Amino acid sequence: MEEIKKVTKYYLLTPGPTPIPPEVALKEALPIIHHRTNEFAVIYRNVVEGLKDVFRTKNEVYILAASGTGAMETAVVNLLSHGDEIIVASCGNFGDRWLKIAQGYGLKFISICVEWGKVVKPSEIEKALKNNPNVKAVYTTFTETSTGVVNDIKTIGEIVSKTDAILVVDAISGLVGQEFKTDEWKVDVVVSGSQKGFMLAPGLAFITLNDKAWELVKTSKLPKFYFDIKKYKKSYITNETPFTPPVTLVVALEESIKFINKRGLENIWNDCKLLAKAARAGMTALDLKLFGEVPCEVVTSASVPIEIGGKIVKMLREKYGVSIAGGQGDLKGKIIRFAHMGYIGKADLLIGLACLEMVLVELGIKIEKGKAVAAAEEVLLKTE
Ligand SMILES: *Cc1c(COP(=O)(O)O)cnc(C)c1O
Repeated sequence: MEEIKKVTKYYLLTPGPTPIPPEVALKEALPIIHHRTNEFAVIYRNVVEGLKDVFRTKNEVYILAASGTGAMETAVVNLLSHGDEIIVASCGNFGDRWLKIAQGYGLKFISICVEWGKVVKPSEIEKALKNNPNVKAVYTTFTETSTGVVNDIKTIGEIVSKTDAILVVDAISGLVGQEFKTDEWKVDVVVSGSQKGFMLAPGLAFITLNDKAWELVKTSKLPKFYFDIKKYKKSYITNETPFTPPVTLVVALEESIKFINKRGLENIWNDCKLLAKAARAGMTALDLKLFGEVPCEVVTSASVPIEIGGKIVKMLREKYGVSIAGGQGDLKGKIIRFAHMGYIGKADLLIGLACLEMVLVELGIKIEKGKAVAAAEEVLLKTE
């Protein structure tokens, strides 16, 4: 039996997947082309060159057919050997994923885990590196999407670069939306994915490695086949991937990179910063306590009473067609998260806040209708 839907228009304000611009979505609908052709090679070359700009690196960026986690696993199996020691600095669910991958491969790890909502302290990494000179790599997260905070990668990069260890950063949700400079910040390996700032359907993962990281690749003995980065490096020269690439997504990525370049990466960073400020003002106006020690610019989190956390997310989606995210793990039911990255604009944010107000009223929370929207408008109006 077919379900009769209450709403027919949807707004995706989740931190992945994010909405896809129409011009990018249209590319995903075109007839597929063969990947061992000159036609595809030209697109592939444009795409990898575009990715280098977005990553702010001079090094090659490889495209994998996987969700972001595939690139995370790639960054583990290609750099290390059984028994190697690493540091994992985690402040949330995605940071903990590094721990789980390390556990899966039998690595020795020193975990610097801070309470969810807090950020990683660079000085803790510095101390751990000093006490454990055999550490091969430090794994951490740029924007921790599960809590909405951002780690100081620039400072961490400075610290790790002075040692023999390499720094591996998960920038899956932060890249494109928030200022990130791979080479300048001395980050050795960066991973990302297609369904957040890149405004594409899920299915592509990206990874870049510098010379210091490639030295580790040479000695790495962990088992690998599909994610063997040497295979990707070899076929990169001929504008190919070692296995069939998700052709459709690569074609669409060319369009999404065009979209990014039309607005300009720096402008996009500023757009997200402004939306984050407006989102924070909106939530605060409703007396919702902002969550997170150092809020990032791609997603905004606020604490909500535990008994209504799940209901807010469900009602927003079912009654108004607005999808936001709730909390993960221990934060389930305790926070709500609004994304403002990629193809999410000022108007989308205002819609999200207006519908949040209505849901809160329906849940019997005492708020003044229009207050969040007004506070966000105030922020948006003050800026050109
Ligand atoms: C979304 C996300 C991931 C996981 O990516 P998948 O594409 O679901 O594998 C990892 N890290 C961060 C910070 C993310 O936001």
